[in-house]
Amino acid sequence: MAGKRFPLPFAGMSSKALHTRFAPSPTGLLHVGNVRTALFNRLLASAGGGRFLLRLEDTDAVRGEGRYADALQEDLRWLGLDWDEGPGAPGAHGPYAQSERGEIYADYFERLVSAGAVYPCFCTEHELKIERKTQLAAGRAPRYSGRCRRLSSEEVEARFAAGTPATLRFHVVDGCEIAFEDRVRGSQRFLSDDIGDFVIRRSDGTPAFFFSNAIDDSLMDVSLVVRGEDHLTNTPRQILLLEALNLSVPDYAHIALVTGNDSAPLSKRNGSQTVRELREQGYLPLAIVNYLARLGHSYDENGLMIVEELAAHFDIARLHRSPARYDSAQLRHWQQEAVASTDDAELWQWMNSVEISGGKVRDLVPDDLEIPFAQAIRENIVMPQDAYLWAGNLFARSGIFDHEAREAIVEAGAGFYEQALSLFDADTTDFSAYAKKLGAALGLKGRALFMPLRAALSGESAPQLENPWHDGPSMAAIWGLLGYKRITRRLELARELCRS
Ligand code: GLU
Repeated sequence: MAGKRFPLPFAGMSSKALHTRFAPSPTGLLHVGNVRTALFNRLLASAGGGRFLLRLEDTDAVRGEGRYADALQEDLRWLGLDWDEGPGAPGAHGPYAQSERGEIYADYFERLVSAGAVYPCFCTEHELKIERKTQLAAGRAPRYSGRCRRLSSEEVEARFAAGTPATLRFHVVDGCEIAFEDRVRGSQRFLSDDIGDFVIRRSDGTPAFFFSNAIDDSLMDVSLVVRGEDHLTNTPRQILLLEALNLSVPDYAHIALVTGNDSAPLSKRNGSQTVRELREQGYLPLAIVNYLARLGHSYDENGLMIVEELAAHFDIARLHRSPARYDSAQLRHWQQEAVASTDDAELWQWMNSVEISGGKVRDLVPDDLEIPFAQAIRENIVMPQDAYLWAGNLFARSGIFDHEAREAIVEAGAGFYEQALSLFDADTTDFSAYAKKLGAALGLKGRALFMPLRAALSGESAPQLENPWHDGPSMAAIWGLLGYKRITRRLELARELCRS
């Protein structure tokens, strides 16, 4: 087609270090979907030897709230996604909150005014709404008609003199094509004729998203913008703006959105959770990060990785074009892996980091058994609640046998426990030697031997586990943990139960 053709901004930029950014609008708590965007940007910057920048897009003074800006920074730090430049990490391109960049924007508005690339628009919301409706009714895509572009300078003067509020619109040149190579979605072409003149400054003087977002990326030396594909159609506008200002244009990568089980975009309704919620449930940062790094990106590595390792193996070419489905079972898998990689002392801290039923694990476990407890149950827990359950079973609920445990105890009979007590000496280090001895004396083995012991010692058949007799802590671990006095007491209680 005729007209100017804009060059592919992608060309020739790939040899530079990769500078990426996360640019949230702090209007609420961070959800998993936004965090994934932040994570991909963090990983790409690390992998490309570049810098990862955090910018707060808080120009929308009504919606933006300081507490959300603080919360999102805390959440990112908790996840281990630190930024090289941004709030609290001064660099060459600050300030990093758009609410503090008013003078910079004023300067660039001025440049566009001087270049004749923009014009004031006096159309009211109501007029614009009617225009859109009429276009839709005629089967046309809604775009601004350019009415105010045609006002004479006298008319403009008169409206300003009358104090009529005005936005500033960017004049999109007719008849050209805007092309760019999206790093995920490939070649993209848009026709300027499909893009109406758009607002870059609101009537209250604040910059519109298209404007501040684009010029900040350029001024902050961002070389790759990774963001949700819902922004794809904004990109040609932003390229036009940057070209008009003679500012460098970054590469773009628009990533597929995250959906819920119902294939609809992830939202509260279909399972989206905030980082806060996941944290309060006891998810570990590494579990979240490992899951999200694989949500719409494939790795050859199947094991848990720290952020640096995730970065080393992250490959933009392996980002999927199709939407990624959020799957809480996968998150749970990575949680299991993260728990397994945590040492006993950290695990103890973690299981006490959340309150369960108004209490904490430490309320139930004797002081001298904190670390041995964590060690004994580490393979049997995924969430702090699991630890709380085992702490209750092993320490707080002595003699409180659940239904299945009672049945197993009564079936074994008082003689079983009589024998168990008589063969039990103070040694709790070698359960298998003890079990052999007891089995020989009773003529029992396997399930018939172990089930009554487990029921007596843990008081619980562990119905929360799929396979309670195998998925609970090993008898050897329970044996070592409970110690002589507790074991004796529990065997006695089981014996009494048989006699009652
Ligand atoms: N503030 C925008 C948002 O949160 C940034 C979009 C972008 O990454 O360019 O959606």
